[in-house]
Amino acid sequence: MTETIAAASDRPDDAPEAGAANGAAVAAKLREAVLEKLAYSVGKDRNAASERDWFIAVALAARDRMVDNWMTTVRANYRESRRRVYYLSLEFLVGRLLFDSLTNLDLVEPMREALAGLDVDLDRLRDLEPDAALGNGGLGRLAACFMESMATLGIAAHGYGIRYDHGLFRQTIADGWQHEYPEDWLEFGNPWEFPRPEVHYEIGFGGSVESVARNEQTAQVWRPAEIVAAVAFDTPVVGWRGQHVNTLRLWSARAPDPLRLDKFNQGDYFGAQADQVRAESISKVLYPSDSTPAGQELRLRQEYFFASASLQDLMRRHLEQNGDINTLADKAAIQLNDTHPAIGVAELMRLLVDVHGVAWDRAWEITVATFSYTNHTLLPEALETWPAPLMERLLPRHMQIIYLINAKHLDALRAKGLDDPQKLAAVSLIDEHRGRHVRMGPLAFLGSHKVNGVSALHSELVKETVFRELHELFPDRICNKTNGVTFRRWLFEANPHLTRLLVETLGKEVLDDPSLLIKLEPYADDLNFQARWAAAKQANKENLARVIADRTMIKVNPAALFDVQIKRIHEYKRQLLNILDTIALYNEIRAQPMRDMAPRVKIFAGKAAASYQQAKLIIKLANDVARVVNNDPTVRDQLKVVFLPNYNVSLAEAIIPAADLSEQISTAGMEASGTGNMKMALNGALTIGTLDGANVEIKERVGDDNIFIFGLKADEVAKRRAQGIDMRDTIAAAPELREVLESIAEGAFSHDDRHRYQGLVDSITYHDYFLVAADFVAYRAAQAAVTRRWRDRKAWQRAAILNTARTAWFSSDRTIQEYAEDIWKVPTLRPRA
Ligand SMILES: *Cc1c(COP(=O)(O)O)cnc(C)c1O
Repeated sequence: MTETIAAASDRPDDAPEAGAANGAAVAAKLREAVLEKLAYSVGKDRNAASERDWFIAVALAARDRMVDNWMTTVRANYRESRRRVYYLSLEFLVGRLLFDSLTNLDLVEPMREALAGLDVDLDRLRDLEPDAALGNGGLGRLAACFMESMATLGIAAHGYGIRYDHGLFRQTIADGWQHEYPEDWLEFGNPWEFPRPEVHYEIGFGGSVESVARNEQTAQVWRPAEIVAAVAFDTPVVGWRGQHVNTLRLWSARAPDPLRLDKFNQGDYFGAQADQVRAESISKVLYPSDSTPAGQELRLRQEYFFASASLQDLMRRHLEQNGDINTLADKAAIQLNDTHPAIGVAELMRLLVDVHGVAWDRAWEITVATFSYTNHTLLPEALETWPAPLMERLLPRHMQIIYLINAKHLDALRAKGLDDPQKLAAVSLIDEHRGRHVRMGPLAFLGSHKVNGVSALHSELVKETVFRELHELFPDRICNKTNGVTFRRWLFEANPHLTRLLVETLGKEVLDDPSLLIKLEPYADDLNFQARWAAAKQANKENLARVIADRTMIKVNPAALFDVQIKRIHEYKRQLLNILDTIALYNEIRAQPMRDMAPRVKIFAGKAAASYQQAKLIIKLANDVARVVNNDPTVRDQLKVVFLPNYNVSLAEAIIPAADLSEQISTAGMEASGTGNMKMALNGALTIGTLDGANVEIKERVGDDNIFIFGLKADEVAKRRAQGIDMRDTIAAAPELREVLESIAEGAFSHDDRHRYQGLVDSITYHDYFLVAADFVAYRAAQAAVTRRWRDRKAWQRAAILNTARTAWFSSDRTIQEYAEDIWKVPTLRPRA
């Protein structure tokens, strides 16, 4: 059941800028506002202003348009004493905000017009904005989509994270190899944020714990050896139609004292600033490499730093407003995005028990009722654990609390008659296997009233694998919330051609209610509509062809099939399988040069973790294959291979609307959900994929005829691995695969180093954990089916239209609506058209 809340009474009845009726007047006012910002905030004269100055002025003018509704939202939240949602995430992969803000304020066209009168081109300013890349990939992008949907649904929500000085590294490709460079998104300032130096908290590290007598009981007092200050920076997050504006609050680390003046005056300039450097390193970079103990410690410091600052902040807000910490769970729902903020469970217990004097059992009730936790992966290497000695040294009081939570948990199980030591070990917070470790997954599980997976398949696998024993003990705790993506960014902003066609066909109501997309179904066979559909896709492909030429010097034919695999480079995502298919196609062309092929462009983009050697080698192979194929005169225009460097949100926005084919080919059971799959299906790409993650649900919705499914299923993957993953027999039985692997192993793509890929070929041959060889033949057959469909252009377009028509369910508004109803128990507000 959907509870609805009344619109706040002091919310203006209609946003002043809404609608295009008074368009010219709105544009004139905006022009004035931009000029004022340019003069008084940027401090530049019109004639001396650079494009970047104009960008800052435009962003500030747009930000002003959010502020009134932001204040209104804040006042309404207080007045109505609404339950708030706190979304804790170590990553927010936001991307650019200029068009996001203008789109949601309905100001794109007025601003374009306003600037045209000043001889400034809005679309050029768009490209000047650096991406806010405070995340690695899907998990961080999900947090950004959720922030936008929570604002759209009028939920009183706050995002909490870290304001990294340097987000995800910038990737360059030199001689085919990935290189990483620091990214500097704050170099020219950040016009979207409000620094809040008055909002700061002390975060302790190290030191010792003392028992003291308090009210005839013993209390524990933590005396940290080191204090770091967390300072807030707020970014308003505006929802669709601008009515509701939430806050993304990011923490930056400071030393309590900027300088040791005594040391400085003795001439020890480095020593004088050592504390500051040490403190500020916490918010210096996203995801410090954890390949060294120092890197591991820094990562734990980041997690505790932001969890503690966020909890102190939300408890202060709660006490100011409600006066009684006992009602926290009634007024706050805290969502943990993966286990990265899971130390928050112990921190909330510490704050309740040690600082606010709440009795342990009551504090535990409050904690469990407040937290919920989203699991994002089943990969064993991604399940966080911390060495107990590190935790004891850095967070001695939290370690005590975790031991006590664990003891009470195991006692309760023994009291229920469970005494199998193996079962107890499986559900313990402490892993005693390879040196003592704290397991953050079980800590998040126990400290939460709900635990969710991110697709139907993934949530079932969570119950059967990582949390099998805990699920037996708490059978009502795990639920599913299939991911989604915000249509504002991934359809309206990224694909204006298609959006215009949708509005012309279905009416502008489709912008507010994506379920209306289903009314596209009757047009799927309409030749006139197909032609307009094809024209929109063609315009997007021509645009991408220009981007490709600009960045790689490769000329691609916009009439060819654009076959797209864009995502982090990881063995389980199997870019390698796609590269093998590319080589097989290449071999086919060379064997029969006169055969009429369906021309294809294979488009890859994605970053490899800096320390992930195998992934970096896969990037090199993609680039080596691209060089050979693109320079072979027999291939002509039949096949082109492109690796676009520095994949990020903005590049995704350029690629996705131009995709014909979406590659979602992970080893079944390994991709938790995927969201790239949803973005491309929504934009009318057909998916070639395994039954993994949300692909399963995409297939159910678009229909078996409009998707190309192949390969081993999750249960078959488990069986295949159990049989053994030596693939010599499989390869011997597949001549095409044998030829491909032999050519790689012989150095056909690496004349300068013929043995470069020997290890790679050996692992596919003898130890094919990701089942690349096992799925190759099925994948090739699915690709052949793709080619046949592509040749029948009407059939292809029909399927593409049906993909858009049937993927409304993958809106993150739907996902957030489910979280609001089933987990957070907060009301939502449907946006008003
Ligand atoms: C959507 C998105 C992702 C996630 O892609 P998957 O294919 O689901 O792994 C990663 N990075 C960026 C920049 C994205 O926009």
